[in-house]
Amino acid sequence: MRILVTGAAGFIGAHVCEKLLARGDTVVGLDALDLAPGDVALRRSRLARLSGARGFTFLPGDVTDAARLREAFTVARPEGVVHLAARVGVRAPDAEAPAYADTNVTGFVRVLEGCREAKVAHLVYASSSSVYGATTPAPFREDAPVDQPLNLYGATKRANELMAHAYSHLHRLPTSGLRFFTVYGPWGRPDMAPLLFLRALSRGEPLVLHGDGRMRRDFTFVDDVAEAVVRVLDRPPEGSPPQRLLNVGHGEPVVLGDFVALLERHWGARARVTSVPAQAAEMASTWADTSRLEQATGFRPRVSVDEGVRRLVAWYRAWVDANAGR
Ligand code: NAD
Repeated sequence: MRILVTGAAGFIGAHVCEKLLARGDTVVGLDALDLAPGDVALRRSRLARLSGARGFTFLPGDVTDAARLREAFTVARPEGVVHLAARVGVRAPDAEAPAYADTNVTGFVRVLEGCREAKVAHLVYASSSSVYGATTPAPFREDAPVDQPLNLYGATKRANELMAHAYSHLHRLPTSGLRFFTVYGPWGRPDMAPLLFLRALSRGEPLVLHGDGRMRRDFTFVDDVAEAVVRVLDRPPEGSPPQRLLNVGHGEPVVLGDFVALLERHWGARARVTSVPAQAAEMASTWADTSRLEQATGFRPRVSVDEGVRRLVAWYRAWVDANAGR
């Protein structure tokens, strides 16, 4: 298949590209690269691993740039689109709110328009567990009410789901929104807890636990997430309208303090833990019901948190060694 992947230099995007290329798909990756905030060197390293692969083309570009996006659709002539580009993180500074709306809302509409014009067979896009609210009964099911997001990021992701529904209804565009739950693993995001914790642990610096360590997260290993994306991509929804929402989570919430204990065991040192209260933007607990994903694809994320942390730590050790002094 010919696939356009936005956010291809990102954590999940690079893993998805790798999986698509490994099975022989032709992939055009688009990413704002150094125009987006975050660790540009890490993005470049992820891209470097993909760039030798047969069938991969990279285009630097912003999803809000209509001309550039049109070019990407022209180059890719995609049958499927995986849209992962976004401003990420639930603790966005207020000053960045308009930038979140630009990329996550305006950018998404441009992607929808590109899919409509190109008559794409299936758009798979990243939503988030952040669409659920503080009062959602656990485990979270896709049909739970989602009208009380705790942060702007979650609100933009919910907006994406509603916009996708409208395009599926009006233009018969098949869309699947994937609500990812705390993804972790090799080549992960330096702004998220697993890598923040590991960095503190490896340097002997204080490891800051929000919510006094009692918060729970449904940590989901990135290989499982990439596999879920590809399986969903291969199976466009057929209903009317042709759209669906699927949780992509591991299905077993882990207390943050226990996650840190696993990191300590695999890293081989004790952390110097300090605690701060949870922020208003943070959920106390996330927990995915994954039965809808399993029904749709026959797949359930399966890498245990112990095994996932082992693989994360192995990658991190090699990464730190290779980037000593960085
Ligand atoms: P990431 O930050 O590693 O990847 C996002 C990529 O998008 C980056 O490479 C960035 O350069 C690119 N990007 C940002 N703005 C852009 C723009 N305007 N135009 C083009 N590219 C742009 O994040 P990730 O963890 O890989 O997340 C991928 C998707 O999954 C995002 O949509 C995110 O909201 C969603 N998600 C992730 C998680 C998680 O735990 N990682 C959880 C829920 C949802």
